[in-house]
Amino acid sequence: MAIDQTASAGISALKMVIGGQTVDAADGQTFEIVNPATGGVIATAPLGGKADVDGAVEAAQRAFDDPKGWGTWAAGKRGRTLAKFAALIKDHTDELAWLETRNTGKPISSSRGEVVGASLVFDYYAGAANKIFGQTIPVTKPGLDLTLREPIGVVGLIVPWNFPLLMASWKLGPALAAGNTCVLKPASLSPMTALRVGELALEAGFPPGVINVVTGPGGTAGAAIAAHPGVGKVAFTGETTTGQEIMRLAAGNVKKVSLELGGKSPNIVYADADIERFAAESPYSVFDNCGQDCCARSRILVERSVHDQVVELFAAATRKVVVGDPADEATEVGTLVSFKQRDRVRDYIEIGLSEGATLVVGGEAPTDPALADGAYLMPAVFDGVRNEMRIAGEEIFGPVVSIIPFDTEAEAMRLANATPYGLSGSVWSRDIGKALRTARGIQAGVLSVNCNSSVHTEAPFGGYKMSGIGRELGMSAIDLYTETKNVFIDLRP
Ligand code: NAD
Repeated sequence: MAIDQTASAGISALKMVIGGQTVDAADGQTFEIVNPATGGVIATAPLGGKADVDGAVEAAQRAFDDPKGWGTWAAGKRGRTLAKFAALIKDHTDELAWLETRNTGKPISSSRGEVVGASLVFDYYAGAANKIFGQTIPVTKPGLDLTLREPIGVVGLIVPWNFPLLMASWKLGPALAAGNTCVLKPASLSPMTALRVGELALEAGFPPGVINVVTGPGGTAGAAIAAHPGVGKVAFTGETTTGQEIMRLAAGNVKKVSLELGGKSPNIVYADADIERFAAESPYSVFDNCGQDCCARSRILVERSVHDQVVELFAAATRKVVVGDPADEATEVGTLVSFKQRDRVRDYIEIGLSEGATLVVGGEAPTDPALADGAYLMPAVFDGVRNEMRIAGEEIFGPVVSIIPFDTEAEAMRLANATPYGLSGSVWSRDIGKALRTARGIQAGVLSVNCNSSVHTEAPFGGYKMSGIGRELGMSAIDLYTETKNVFIDLRP
């Protein structure tokens, strides 16, 4: 269903995509989707549950078992379908970006970038489809030993609300390239783009049942996917506590599990760094997407001799961040995803103050009366933070950063690693030896030096420790969606 993009658009009644059909929930129930910039209801979506998940898994299994189906297609043909899908998504950039912005409160320019990013991910896996192959191995016994890479079957993909379409593309792309069939569940706060993309998949030529999209609460619909005996693998992005629950639910049939979870990433600034560049670029490493980013560099660890300079420059750069209506092209930071999330982040501002940290800038609602009805919060910088404080230890998932001084390289690494998380981080230094020693010393899956760039479609992405299991993106992701079969052939005459 094409979406009405006019300002007077009514409330659209969205449908799930199961077995090639657009459908309501089995029991007809729905839930409301709210625009966090206005508080208004913009759509309803089916409140799917176990029965709907059962239907989607059956459809996906039928598509997988079809003797002429998706998994049996020549890899190049699968790749061409993925390329068509990528092009269709790109052609619908304006529509999808508009949906995402209204649904999540992220700036329209960011939403557009995210749609294009998702399209590039599908393009990458379009090219990957016919480059998935095994090995020949010189085993001891005489004969030929070779490995086959095979799809797992039906895979369940559960994604969060912070980058709804992008996170879906990270999972759908490699899963489909490898020949699996999918049941995708978007977060209840942000289902709009996933449902629309489910429709576009049918236009792109994926056979019915290859991509199914089910909406509904995590505790019921999500849990039904994670526990379903017909699902061979579950890929999840979301909170660490939810990831732990997914592992428990997946244990029933020993599903393969990959998890991309939370973070509390350090941004380490040595005294010999280009401090001005650090301060100009780093606000976006923590305030972009209103801080709702698993890679947010939410702890700035700064060498004591440049502490005051860093605080001053970083605070000045933060004051320049343009907070405003997400629909405005000039806006850099829109709303949080919901009023509940905004209130949660505001609570952390109070916690920081009560712990004795100094709020240098931000943390309040914007003064512009035009923004009074939205879930806005001005980016907040706390100084005088100790790593033991809750604001430095817990994932706030909002526009809040903590500045913590250190004295030595060893202390910087100790502080960086004093967290149960290990997703990403940055190191700033002109001394390449020191920068690389620090990068090697940090227990995290994604590190950057003299920049804050975490994500590259072609390179592995994922977490150490409680930030996850497995590596998405690049060819690493193919490992998450394939089984390896070893075949030994006796060559005796
Ligand atoms: P969440 O864990 O609340 O929800 C994520 C998804 O899981 C949603 O679709 C939700 O409906 C579903 N879900 C919830 N409970 C479930 C259950 N019991 N069983 C099955 N599914 C269930 O996370 P969120 O609030 O949507 O997203 C924010 C979190 O995601 C943050 O912690 C963030 O760090 C993390 N995140 C991590 C990465 C990464 O790549 N490491 C990327 C983006 C977001």
